[in-house]
Amino acid sequence: MSAPSAIQRQVAVLGATGSIGSSALDVIARHPHRFRATLLAAGHNVGALLELCRIHRPRHAVVADTSSFAALRDGLRDLGLDTQAHSGDAVLDQLAAGPDCDTVVAAVVGAAGLSSTLAAARAGKRLLLANKESLVLAGELVMAAAQANGGEIIPIDSEHNAIFQCLRSSAGSAGIRRLLLTASGGPFRGWDRNRLADVTREQALAHPKWSMGPKISIDSATMMNKGLEVIEAHHLFSIPNERIDILVHPQSLVHSLVEFIDGSTLAQLGLPDMRTSLAVGLGWPERIESGVAGLDLLQNRQLEFEAPDMLAFPCLRLARDALVAGGTVPAILNAANEIAVSAFLQGRVGFLAIPALVETTLNALPHAPACSLESLLAADQAARDYTEQSILRGAFPA
Ligand code: NAD
Ligand code: MG
Repeated sequence: MSAPSAIQRQVAVLGATGSIGSSALDVIARHPHRFRATLLAAGHNVGALLELCRIHRPRHAVVADTSSFAALRDGLRDLGLDTQAHSGDAVLDQLAAGPDCDTVVAAVVGAAGLSSTLAAARAGKRLLLANKESLVLAGELVMAAAQANGGEIIPIDSEHNAIFQCLRSSAGSAGIRRLLLTASGGPFRGWDRNRLADVTREQALAHPKWSMGPKISIDSATMMNKGLEVIEAHHLFSIPNERIDILVHPQSLVHSLVEFIDGSTLAQLGLPDMRTSLAVGLGWPERIESGVAGLDLLQNRQLEFEAPDMLAFPCLRLARDALVAGGTVPAILNAANEIAVSAFLQGRVGFLAIPALVETTLNALPHAPACSLESLLAADQAARDYTEQSILRGAFPA
């Protein structure tokens, strides 16, 4: 338990019932004098949200699904809590920007997290950003909103959190030669494309190193996750695509590296547990206990590195091309991927349909400059509709 500190951070955990949300609440609960979870938000799992409210006693609980409002309100009353119940996206944005939190853990999955991420950035909150899709979809807008309003963004994605830490070794970004994002390679590392045709949902969900929500687990299996992370790194650190390399590192102990122009390469290492990144984000610039053990390199003697297989995992190419094209293209990539992953998880399409659907949608839709949030959201919606139609018609090559 930490010593009492003068300022207690008031933390909103958006996506509280998810994998990142529960890791964040674990770290928060270790430091009751430092942090208080004042707002917990979830998609529709009211039972899990109520259980978290019982433990953390937030001021506000929000369920996105409006039809679940009465269940949340009545459940809070039955527990004898004075937590206020809310539902819907608009109120979540208001609360994330409001006076009852100074720190926001953005851990909603998918583009559904953009609105609350932007609201928190515009309100100048400390933003612990796990929701990478909001940067893929609207990276310029999110970064500009935080900058214009004095907010700080601390990346929670382990690779970007590692880079965030490595970059604190020098002033400015002029000395960076390249970023090296590590990738576990997912459950199908070393498989060729033919073998990937028949993989099952269970095989794809079984990540060898990280325990995560279903969407990011499938993204890791297709390696779209690493493609999204290249785009994420570009926005967070203002580094172009050609200076962001991907290094497959199956042990998942080196979380990423930065090479500087003087020949130094700095890396951050640790066990694969997201509580480390979250503790960095919550405590920064202080280091705080996270519950994660240190890394014993005598027990983990092998650190291997290999190049990614761009043929077996075409999502890497699609994401890099989308970053280079810019405008609405990353939004189209992200939306098509969300629909394709969801269809795969529902057993409606096979594994190789995921890259095929994303590519089909990218080829079909017009690429426009991303001049506004409206144009990005329109591209997102058009890509969702087009991908859904392709699935219904079976019109994709896989
Ligand atoms: P998850 O599926 O475990 O949890 C998602 C959370 O979002 C749940 O609490 C769900 O109720 C909530 N949610 C869904 N739709 C919502 C909506 N419309 N409004 C409010 N809440 C909503 O996902 P996760 O693995 O925790 O991932 C969350 C985000 O963090 C993703 O963007 C993912 O890419 C990123 N991330 C996760 C990890 C990890 O280790 N899990 C690592 C790096 C980045
Ligand atoms: Mg990551």
